[in-house]
Amino acid sequence: MVYSASMKLHCLGTAGYHPSETRQTSCYFLPESGIVLDAGSGLFRLPSLIQTDHLDILLSHSHLDHICGLTFLLSVLYQHPVQRVRVWGDEAKLTAIKKHLFCESIFPVPLDVQWNRIVPGEAFSLGNDANVVPFALPHPGGSIGFRIDWPSASMAYVTDTTADPKADYVPIARGVDLLLHECNFRTSQDEWAIKTGHSSTRRVAETAAAIDAKQTWLVHLNPLETTDDPVGIADAKPYLSKIGVAQDLQVIDF
Ligand SMILES: [Zn+2]
Ligand SMILES: [Zn+2]
Repeated sequence: MVYSASMKLHCLGTAGYHPSETRQTSCYFLPESGIVLDAGSGLFRLPSLIQTDHLDILLSHSHLDHICGLTFLLSVLYQHPVQRVRVWGDEAKLTAIKKHLFCESIFPVPLDVQWNRIVPGEAFSLGNDANVVPFALPHPGGSIGFRIDWPSASMAYVTDTTADPKADYVPIARGVDLLLHECNFRTSQDEWAIKTGHSSTRRVAETAAAIDAKQTWLVHLNPLETTDDPVGIADAKPYLSKIGVAQDLQVIDF
């Protein structure tokens, strides 16, 4: 069967932890649906790409590398106003963001958005055609992954967790067209990955092989890795044919 691409995902920030000279922190955008995955520092790149009259920002969790870009929304919406912005996340994380990130001592203006609670395992729909299944991920403080299905395409976003081929999220994500999976560490740094609640290359490859996506891109990359091989991709190649390391400003068709 010839596969025809129908959706586009823009990588606005592919680093974990802090930005580097070439990578902003976690943020991905699906312009056709107005869906933003995480609000890291890459969110400042949004304005010229917006195609809808609304934005739906899905937060995996509230560690700073995934939410600092919420404070950039004033400038994003000044440049490209939309009718409605909804921020979706775990209730405790949304409460923490409102109380701490948007406290007057940290940021001067309250954020004029709708805050929507999500619960792992409770699916919801966005717009006319996107069905979102949030699922819990092991990570300090907890994290949430997302499977999103459109009539013609599907994807899973798995960030900030320790990859495991036997994890509960594997059957949920199985068979998607596009898998974004975090890979913050090299195989040789697995001890660090476990200690910090992140993933290393071989674990991710084994897990992605079990998920069996049509294409897999590694994200949440270590900002200290500045070469063109930030994860030691040779460790993953034996497990998967279609796998790559995502770059900032890359557009993935799926
Ligand atoms: Zn992170
Ligand atoms: Zn985190």
